[in-house]
Amino acid sequence: MKAVRLVNYHQPLELQDAPEPKITGPLDVIVKIGAAGVCRTDLHVLEGQWAAKSNVRLPYTIGHENAGWVHAAGGAVTVLNVGDKVILHPLVTCGLCRACRSGDDVHCEASSFPGIDTDGGYAEYLKTGARSVIKLDETLEPVAVAALADAGLTAYHACTKAARALRPGNSVVMTGAGGLGHIGVQVMKAISAATVIVVNRNEGALRLAKGLGADHVVLALDGIGHESGSGDVVVDEVVRLTAGKGAEAVIDFVAEGGSTPRGVKSLRRTGNYYVVGYGENINVPTIDIISTEINFIGNLVGSYNDLAELMVLAAQEKVVLHTSVYKLDDFQKAIDDLSAGKVRARAILDP
Ligand SMILES: [Zn+2]
Ligand SMILES: [Zn+2]
Repeated sequence: MKAVRLVNYHQPLELQDAPEPKITGPLDVIVKIGAAGVCRTDLHVLEGQWAAKSNVRLPYTIGHENAGWVHAAGGAVTVLNVGDKVILHPLVTCGLCRACRSGDDVHCEASSFPGIDTDGGYAEYLKTGARSVIKLDETLEPVAVAALADAGLTAYHACTKAARALRPGNSVVMTGAGGLGHIGVQVMKAISAATVIVVNRNEGALRLAKGLGADHVVLALDGIGHESGSGDVVVDEVVRLTAGKGAEAVIDFVAEGGSTPRGVKSLRRTGNYYVVGYGENINVPTIDIISTEINFIGNLVGSYNDLAELMVLAAQEKVVLHTSVYKLDDFQKAIDDLSAGKVRARAILDP
């Protein structure tokens, strides 16, 4: 089968002829890939940032945001039929450890992560486990939802966590309105009455966010150091929009380019800072943390149930993924466009 493989770090991916995956365990499921999301994490994988964490043997097939059709299943799989339209939770989990038993799939003690530490979905077929497969509503197509498997799931996980503490009248700042952020806006508007303030460097992304229901958008100029109250025009605007107090929650989908100092300053006392993007360090004096009781909360992907709930919102058309579709053979262009910041919302590979 065709597969886009990582042969060496810091080297272009290669389209190769790879062996098709085979059923070896009773709960294995092989999926014919209908669409695979192209993610910023793929760029980090190519740069070798995950090499030590994943210990993956090269060459291997990347791609961790996958949807398609069930192609084959092991003898113990009773809940799926060949041809079922499905989206895949990104991890393959054991189902037996304490984390799995509490529904916390991401912290499974014996998981694998196709596309990160085993063969992923930039290919015609992918092997996963029955626990990771969610049947799609008949109105949804793989190409329309594939990137919800990670980007959307991560945004959903962070937004639902934040929404549990947000009351009507509260405000949430979302930093970034790209692949994750544009989903986050829709999720937050669907499940919460909080006021959504989106901060982004790109006016086009802000127009998209506004169209998706953001209550306020703020253009992030390189504002730190500007002559203004807080020293930052974005923080000043957030403070103005929140009656001088700051927001109850900040969801940082970026965590690069100075978004964290800005986000921390946008928070009110006892506020919650949800870290989703990764890159820069958060540097906050501990005395500021205790004196204001602000909280910093990490977010890693999301659970199977998170993804199942997100598929409900997708079927209700409350969350619609905005995509740019590339043929699998054009994978390099998709990677280059994402790297150059030319992809509005989310790039998808269609085999
Ligand atoms: Zn991803
Ligand atoms: Zn487990």
